[in-house]
Amino acid sequence: MSQGLTNSEFRAGGTDLSERRRSGVSRGALADLKPSPAMQSMSWDAAGAASIGASTSIAAIARDATIADAYPGLAAAAGGLATPQVRHAATIGGNLAQRSRCWYYRSPHWSCLKKGGSDCPARAGNHLYHVAFDLGPCIAPHPSTLAAALLAYDATVTTNQRQALSIPELLGDGSSGRADHLLRPDEVIEAIKLPSPLADERAIYKRAISRSYAEWPLVEIVARAVIAGGAFKFARVAIGGIAPVPLRLANVETALEGKPANTGTIEAAAKQSVQGAKPLPMTGYKLDLLQGLTHDVLEQLASSA
Ligand SMILES: Cc1cc2nc3c(=O)[nH]c(=O)nc-3n(C[C@H](O)[C@H](O)[C@H](O)COP(=O)(O)OP(=O)(O)OC[C@H]3O[C@@H](n4cnc5c(N)ncnc54)[C@H](O)[C@@H]3O)c2cc1C
Repeated sequence: MSQGLTNSEFRAGGTDLSERRRSGVSRGALADLKPSPAMQSMSWDAAGAASIGASTSIAAIARDATIADAYPGLAAAAGGLATPQVRHAATIGGNLAQRSRCWYYRSPHWSCLKKGGSDCPARAGNHLYHVAFDLGPCIAPHPSTLAAALLAYDATVTTNQRQALSIPELLGDGSSGRADHLLRPDEVIEAIKLPSPLADERAIYKRAISRSYAEWPLVEIVARAVIAGGAFKFARVAIGGIAPVPLRLANVETALEGKPANTGTIEAAAKQSVQGAKPLPMTGYKLDLLQGLTHDVLEQLASSA
């Protein structure tokens, strides 16, 4: 798909971009995305795997019954973010490529790594809503709820330049601190592809939030599981809002798989959720939230088996 302009920032739903244009944080050439019909629709292959066009609205993903049936963690994440108005305008492509919500980054009065500066002012400043997994020089959490959900589902991203990028390949590992994603100039996300769901899998999305509405989460989690014969046969857990990129909790998955789906297993697995965390002076509280959320989603998964 040719978008015409080179080295432009794209406008999809405009819900993130418009605010940065108003404040002057986004400058330079701007191009309205010209989505192809495929970018605006969802399709399914014979094995039941979905391809979601990047210009599909978040509201359309949240209300699609087939998505909710196959990928309940994605549907719940889409339905739980922002406001109905934002979900109606915002696209899944824009959600993945949205920029940091850090107040220093968003303020035209501060320099920071993501704006070409030499350091991260949040470290010595107010970082109450920032990371508790301090993995890079910038301590802003990644803003994309859908990236965390898509990580849990092993989704891949197709662009006009590359095929089958995993979420870590799209977003990086947080070590550069300079970018929120690794898209190249003029690279457009065209579709997001999800593998077919596993037989009998279930999933839960939950967020801890400082107010009940219209706010990014302090911590969010998507957990998928297959429970059969009273044991966890498969587990996949991804978190957002707490690290510079969404993270998979491999320790939690290992603590679940092959173990009985009971209180002892769930408590031991929830304790593993904070392994590797490096909280900042103001963000230790997020680890309590993470452990509590992990416990809750696992308990809910086990009790619905
Ligand atoms: C009150 C409020 C609460 C919110 N809460 C949450 C939340 O909890 N979780 C969450 O994830 N988000 C949240 N958001 C953010 C919202 O989800 C994003 O603003 C939205 O998803 C961005 O999508 P868009 O289509 O409007 O992107 P745009 O604003 O149009 O673009 C955003 C960026 O993505 C790039 N882009 C857009 N589409 C593509 C594409 N196809 N290929 C390459 N680059 C592209 C643009 O160049 C731009 O840099 C919230 C927003 C508000 C206002």
